[in-house]
Amino acid sequence: MAASRIRPVLNGTGVLIHTNLGRSPLAPHIADTVRTIGSHYNNLEIDLVGGARGKRGHYAETCLAALIDAPAATITNNCAAALILMLRHLAKDEKNEVIISRGELVEIGGGFRVPEIMEASGAKLVEVGATNKTALEDYELAITPQTGMLLKVHRSNFTIEGFTAEPSTEELVALGKKHNIPVVEDLGSGAMIATEEIANIPHEPTATEVLKRGVDLVCVSGDKLFGGPQAGIIAGRADLVAGIKKEPFFRAFRCDKMILAAMQETAIAYLRRYENEANDAELPLLRMLATDVETDLRPRGEAILAALGNAKFSLEPCTARCGGGTMPKAEFPSLAIALKGNGAELDAFAASLRNHPSSPLVGKIHDGCFLIDLCTIFPEQDDALTVLLKDLF
Ligand SMILES: *Cc1c(COP(=O)(O)O)cnc(C)c1O
Repeated sequence: MAASRIRPVLNGTGVLIHTNLGRSPLAPHIADTVRTIGSHYNNLEIDLVGGARGKRGHYAETCLAALIDAPAATITNNCAAALILMLRHLAKDEKNEVIISRGELVEIGGGFRVPEIMEASGAKLVEVGATNKTALEDYELAITPQTGMLLKVHRSNFTIEGFTAEPSTEELVALGKKHNIPVVEDLGSGAMIATEEIANIPHEPTATEVLKRGVDLVCVSGDKLFGGPQAGIIAGRADLVAGIKKEPFFRAFRCDKMILAAMQETAIAYLRRYENEANDAELPLLRMLATDVETDLRPRGEAILAALGNAKFSLEPCTARCGGGTMPKAEFPSLAIALKGNGAELDAFAASLRNHPSSPLVGKIHDGCFLIDLCTIFPEQDDALTVLLKDLF
């Protein structure tokens, strides 16, 4: 029972955004801000200049809009809530039909499926096309006077290859304009930077580029590639964002002060990065993405092995991943502390490390080895890792 109390875990899986391990870690200075805001009174809803009631989350929203280069942005409890809010606002009453491709009926994990979330909002799904191919004409033929919205859902946790086709976002936008129907894109992962520039991984679409293609609204997750706390970001047309904020559901999906503070500080860290005032070390997720095996990991691994002085351990190359329903193809080389053994031994290692009372660790089993991927172990955790391994072996 006590083991289920939420506490820090060493992530040796090499999966950067691991939903079971709490998705993205916050930068220490951002966690400090959360602590300060959480343990004191604050100006959450007061305008300190005029003394009147202030707008909750206004500063964080302004920072996010600037970062995304969007006319407006707002923050919700998570991306699923963002999707429901956009649907409540745009697909309702006599215009409650939402057209979506069958190739985008995504399950986002934990058994939750985008179509079910959508229907829970009261919208009526109109599925078009086939799993592998959807044409612009499929969307056009499905448009009726009841159509409230055209929705594109980013395939953030799987890819379709081979005999495939889908209209571009630009084509969908043109179709929406022709029929005066808003076009919305659920990006899920929500990269705020050109992922291919910091690591040898594919380009992940950003909210900025999707809005540039003309979609009316986009939603992204706060705790995936953005690297913030659990939250959802809605960005795009100012009139629509303002309308969404007036929906009764918005009150049910709004964020707490600590989340808003963490979102604000994460957005500021990115803005400072653009001004070259900050480096990626400020954002743990970006730092991990940019990991270099030889310069960042091998010296750490060798130091840990030397401190252990136990021939059972070795350093082995391995593969780290983005994970968390983002970028299924984003894999990059990493390095692990490895412990060889037979199947039963490996399972026993895994169980004893997971059950360690002070520093539980989750690793991975691959090719007859129990691996502790150093990419997702923070350098400041190396000592704790060394103590843990000495303790058990
Ligand atoms: C992850 C994801 C979501 C859900 O995001 P949460 O912030 O976990 O609610 C929705 N849509 C897509 C495409 C996703 O990848």
